[in-house]
Amino acid sequence: MNKLITLEERPEGKPSESNFEIKTEEKPALKEGEILLESKFISVDPYLRGRMNDGDSYIIPFKLHEPMSSMVVAEVVESKNEGFEKGAYVSGMLQWKEFQTHDGKGLNKIENKNVPLSAYLGVLGLTGLTAYLALDTIGKLKEGETLLVSGAAGAVGSVVGQIGKIKGCKVVGIAGTDEKIAHIKSKFNFDAGINYKTTDDMAKAIAENCPDGVDVYFDNVGGNILDAAMQNINDFARIINCGAISIYNKEEVPKGMRLEGIMVKKRALMQGFIVRDHYEQFPEAIKQLGEWLADSKLDFDETVREGFENVPKAFLEIFEGKNLGKMVVKM
Ligand code: NAP
Repeated sequence: MNKLITLEERPEGKPSESNFEIKTEEKPALKEGEILLESKFISVDPYLRGRMNDGDSYIIPFKLHEPMSSMVVAEVVESKNEGFEKGAYVSGMLQWKEFQTHDGKGLNKIENKNVPLSAYLGVLGLTGLTAYLALDTIGKLKEGETLLVSGAAGAVGSVVGQIGKIKGCKVVGIAGTDEKIAHIKSKFNFDAGINYKTTDDMAKAIAENCPDGVDVYFDNVGGNILDAAMQNINDFARIINCGAISIYNKEEVPKGMRLEGIMVKKRALMQGFIVRDHYEQFPEAIKQLGEWLADSKLDFDETVREGFENVPKAFLEIFEGKNLGKMVVKM
C-alpha cells in the first residue's frame, strides 16, 4: 500500500494537524511513458499556508480531500520512459505521497551528486533561487550598502544575508531567538542581528544596528517589522516584499502605518516578488549559487525531520520558528 497526505479542511487562522489526513491507497501501477517515483525528501514551506485557503492568488488553492503538494526530491524506482533511468534522482512539484507515477514533464534531473540531495529543496532549489533572483531583480545591491533582512535564520533569509556579504554589503538580520542571532553572525558572517521577540522598539533597534540607514530591506515577514524597517530607509532604498509570514495566520489582516509619505520622501522602490515569474533566469542563478557553494562562499542550514507522517507537523513548526535554515522531511 501507498501512503498519501490530503487536505481535509481549510484552516481558519493557525493551521493544525487536524487539517490534514494520512490515507492509504493501492501502490500505483506504471503505464508506458511513465516513471515510478519514491519520495526521498519533502519540502515544507510557508507559502503552502496560502494555498490552503480558497481564494484568488498567484497560485491555485489546494483542493479539499486531495493530496497536498510541494517540491520533492524523489528516486526513479521504475521507468517506462526512456528519458529517465531507474536509480536517477529528480526534483519537482510533486504530491505528498510515498510513491507516485509521473510522465517526467517539468522534473529537474539531479546530476551533481556533490551536494546533499536535500539541498535541491533549499539552497539549490526555490529557496536559493528566491534569495538570488529577488536581490538581482529588485535589490540591486551595491558594495558598501546596508542590507537588512528579516527571517534571517530561515531558508531564504540566511542565503540573502550571505549574498549580501559576497556583494560587500553590511548585513543585519532579524530573527526570533538569541541563538539564531549568534548563529547567523558566526556561521554566515552577518554584521549584526536583532531578536524581534525580545526587542520592544524595533525601529530604534534597527536604527542602532544600521547607523548608515537601510538601503535594501529584504522582507520575509511583513507586519510590524516592515513598519519598523520603513522608518529607517535611506533615499532610493529598495524594499523587497518576498513574504509576510507574520500575517499568514491572521484571520483579519492587521493595520499598520501609512507608507506613502516615506515612499515619496525617500523616493523608495517597494516591489513584490514571486520566484516563479523568473523561470528563464533559473539556470543562470543555479549556476552562480552552485559556484559559490563549491568555492565555500555560500553555506546553508537544514532542519531535517524524519518520517512521512511527520510532514504536516514539520510544516506547522515553521510558524513557530522551530527551523534553522530549510525545513525538510526525510522519508
Ligand atoms: P523560513 O524563513 O525558513 O521559515 C520561516 C521563519 O519565519 C521561521 O523559522 C520563523 O523564524 C519566522 N517566523 C515565523 N512566524 C513569524 C512571525 N510571526 N514574525 C516574524 N517571523 C516569523 O521560511 P522560508 O521558506 O525561507 O520563507 C521565508 C519567507 O519567504 C516566507 O514569508 C515565505 O512565504 C517567503 N517566500 C517567498 C517566495 C517568493 O517567491 N516570493 C519564495 C520562497 C519563500 P524566527 O524564529 O526568526 O521567528
